[in-house]
Amino acid sequence: MIPVTKPYLPSREKLNHYIDGIYERNWLTNNGPLVQELTRRLEDYLGVENLLLVTNGTLALQIAYHALGINEPVNDQPAQAITTPFTFIATASSLKWDGITPVFADIDPQTWCLEPNNIEAAITPNTRAIVPVHVFGNACDVEAIDCIAQKHKLKVIYDASHAFGVQYKGESLLKHGDAATLSFHATKLFHTVEGGAIVFKRKEDLERAKKMINFGLAGPDRIEELGINAKMNELQAAMGLCVLDEMEQNLAARAKIWLHYEEVLGKMLQLQAKSQSLDYNYAYFPVVFESEEQTLQVIATLKENGIQARRYFYPSLESVECLGAETSCSVSKDISGRILCLPIYIGLKLSEQKEIANIIRPILKLRDNE
Ligand SMILES: *Cc1c(COP(=O)(O)O)cnc(C)c1O
Repeated sequence: MIPVTKPYLPSREKLNHYIDGIYERNWLTNNGPLVQELTRRLEDYLGVENLLLVTNGTLALQIAYHALGINEPVNDQPAQAITTPFTFIATASSLKWDGITPVFADIDPQTWCLEPNNIEAAITPNTRAIVPVHVFGNACDVEAIDCIAQKHKLKVIYDASHAFGVQYKGESLLKHGDAATLSFHATKLFHTVEGGAIVFKRKEDLERAKKMINFGLAGPDRIEELGINAKMNELQAAMGLCVLDEMEQNLAARAKIWLHYEEVLGKMLQLQAKSQSLDYNYAYFPVVFESEEQTLQVIATLKENGIQARRYFYPSLESVECLGAETSCSVSKDISGRILCLPIYIGLKLSEQKEIANIIRPILKLRDNE
């Protein structure tokens, strides 16, 4: 079976070396030396400051909401955050879970990121924040979003789970917003088995978040505010340090697969329009078919050939009942119905070998049938 993605396993020898150190020190969690080392290494690699490692990408979002105070009610009513329906469920469910009402605005049909005019139209007196997603690593219209946020005094938290290492106009995309969050889940480009991080714009927000991930403790017997447990542990950090060492060759291998797909399929299928001045990370290869019927047909054919393609992102979140949305988002609904992410991972074999050719052939056949 060819899965849609595969976790990357780094050098076992190197991981063993880090684990030996953990055994020697007997320091397993609570801001240990490997967590500190990974924090420094990631800040350096990504070109950012104020990075905080946490347990996973969903808690990264939740800690960011709390550190920036957007969960506090407005006039005794739940705060609202404007977000996109075209994302993984965690972006919106984390808001709802924290008592913030997700308000969905529709996406741009080409970039699949939030359309700024739709954000502005969704603002109410109860809106506290905008939570856009750099979907599949594409950059949102950060300048326009910044403008709207300043004008209406809103916080911006980017769910940048897909944007590890992405550069925009020569700088890390993670520098935009009051905070940007990352997921280091096993299936992501860079991972720590489970894990995540928040990049804060301001040092004081980082300091507040540091207490929040450790039960609100400001010292052994001083509880300064309400907190939760969202600490990364030493074993997670060890995995991260190993994966980070192999990033360059991994990115090169992914780029090769991605560019091959683009060359063969780019002319016949709709691909995501990337924002200008983007230095992309080749994390996903989504394609959009002409109709939902065609999409389902391709899924079935690929499945017969032992290939898994994923309807990602489907369904469009404004239609998910437990999120309680009241809006309709026709662009997101349309793209969601027709999109598929094709397999991309380290070790997937290129065209001269069989694997990618097997993925592409049933898709090319669609065109011949027309
Ligand atoms: C993976 C992902 C998350 C959740 O991250 P976890 O580390 O799995 O908790 C949130 N948002 C987006 C867009 C994601 O892709």
